[in-house]
Amino acid sequence: MAYIEPAPISDKENPFESMMSRFHIASQALGLDDEVYNVLKSPAKQVQVSLPITMDDGSIQVFEGFRVIHSNILGPSKGGLRYDMSVHMDEMKALAAWMTWKCAVVDIPYGGAKGGIKCNPRQMSAGEIERLTRAYTFAMAEIFGPDRDIPAPDMGTGPREMAWLMDAYSKVQGMTVNSVVTGKPLVLGGSLGRAEATGRGVMVSALAAMEKLKINPYQASISVQGFGNVGSFASLLLAERGCRIVAVSDLSGAYYNEKGIDVEHAIKYRDNNNGHLEGFEGAEKILGEELLTLKVDVLVPAATEDVITTENADNIKARLIVEGANGPTSANADPIINDKGIMVAPDILANAGGVTVSYFEWVQNRLGYKWSAERVNRRSDRIMKDAFDRVYNASLEYKVSMRIAAYIVAIDKVSKTYKFRGGF
Ligand code: GLU
Repeated sequence: MAYIEPAPISDKENPFESMMSRFHIASQALGLDDEVYNVLKSPAKQVQVSLPITMDDGSIQVFEGFRVIHSNILGPSKGGLRYDMSVHMDEMKALAAWMTWKCAVVDIPYGGAKGGIKCNPRQMSAGEIERLTRAYTFAMAEIFGPDRDIPAPDMGTGPREMAWLMDAYSKVQGMTVNSVVTGKPLVLGGSLGRAEATGRGVMVSALAAMEKLKINPYQASISVQGFGNVGSFASLLLAERGCRIVAVSDLSGAYYNEKGIDVEHAIKYRDNNNGHLEGFEGAEKILGEELLTLKVDVLVPAATEDVITTENADNIKARLIVEGANGPTSANADPIINDKGIMVAPDILANAGGVTVSYFEWVQNRLGYKWSAERVNRRSDRIMKDAFDRVYNASLEYKVSMRIAAYIVAIDKVSKTYKFRGGF
């Protein structure tokens, strides 16, 4: 094949390099022609803005804001908005491409995008975050739009920020446009089931994978890294289905209880404790790193990128990894995990429940209608289960890992669509 191999991946993990190396392997397995490879390998648009914000003390601080649209071949681009100090252009490019593949894997009519602001929301007041969100939206007013590019929550953002974004965008347009953003509060046109959607999709993927591995959920032990929106709901829903959650963690550390953590209690504790688990007594405190290498049936990394690397992959003892986060396994660690015979339900499959219910939210907004929680859950469960089966079957057909199979399913769909649409 004529396309140029990506440069060898550096030792220091870079999410964009990780994404590209999987894209390359899957493209080869699929026999993708080099023209389409070149179209899909680079983002369609990259925007960077400087946002001067008046802080509460009267000083002016300048923040960097980003939005990367990787592709709008399948439809308007879709993807979250991240507030974190780690935000930089390469991370945004990787996360935007992952959204393209994710939407294609679950077969919803969206392209992929990602946005972010380099900031530490934990050290900012609500007023400062509000001004920053409104300034960012104003700067992106030409980029966003219900038929162009639709943001949603990601790390460091939630319904509150989405409400400000919707309001700022609507003010620019001179009318209420609630379908410009998803993950909104219910009263603004948010969808029932959206808050728990990513965790619920993780649960559906985990149960589907356990069935293939003949792991009985009632006898399964699970450790979950990250106790934010994804990790906490995934833990709760898996516990409700009989699984034993033996470890959870957040920025304050990791918490282990062999008999199983009372997840409902842990969530209540976190909500009354400034959003973290420090001091949680239902478990023994262990090192964050230890959680990843516990002897469990299932490991759910649901925190951030590059936590399973060449440094620790060999020590992982789980039989199944279900990726709640985006990019938790570096590409360099993939062969180690594969050689150990560990099954991976990859990020672009396992955490796609969030964007699936975002799609339902957008559909409801455009219909001017509201679905029941049952309808949302039933439809998203079916989409997740169908996607799992598609990826599993592709892994058998192409004799590749579940991760590469997910990329194959996605690239196949996007490239076929591109060929029908054509370029200039
Ligand atoms: N930020 C979430 C993700 O990475 C949700 C994106 C969305 O709903 O558009 O999948």
